[in-house]
Amino acid sequence: MADRECAICGIGFDPAGTCAKYCSDACRKEGAREAYRRYRVEHREETRERGRRWRQANLDKERARARRYTVEYRDELAERRRLRRLKHGDKIREASRRWEAERREETRERHRLRRLADGDKIRERERLSRLEHRDKIRERGRRYRAEHSDKVRETQTKWRLKRVAAIAALRDLGIEI
Ligand SMILES: [Zn+2]
Repeated sequence: MADRECAICGIGFDPAGTCAKYCSDACRKEGAREAYRRYRVEHREETRERGRRWRQANLDKERARARRYTVEYRDELAERRRLRRLKHGDKIREASRRWEAERREETRERHRLRRLADGDKIRERERLSRLEHRDKIRERGRRYRAEHSDKVRETQTKWRLKRVAAIAALRDLGIEI
């Protein structure tokens, strides 16, 4: 006879033991899932804090894991970024402008220190990158000059005037070039 109600589906069932709470294997599994969900919700902060502490203590492992992830999911991540930019482009650009402006000095200093430490490596990488993308870079320069001819002329004039002034200053010192 059905003298107990299943804790999941509410249907009456005939318990096999004194502690049986569920009518079937399926409901028992669902009960376990629900208990686990409740546990996760109740211990969320604790779990997060444990994760944070572990990552702090295992920075190398954490960085390796992050690297693996970005390599493995490169295409998906790029696609997700593309979609996000399509949807929130203005907001993202504005936020990153603000972010950079707030940290300009900090960023410059970090780049300067990195260059001091790894200058040769960085310069070599930049040289190779320039070689690899030479056509693209030239094309970009051509496009920029075509689109900003006024600015380009202005810059050229400025440089010419500076040169003239420098030559005059040298002449004053008695140096002819
Ligand atoms: Zn049930």
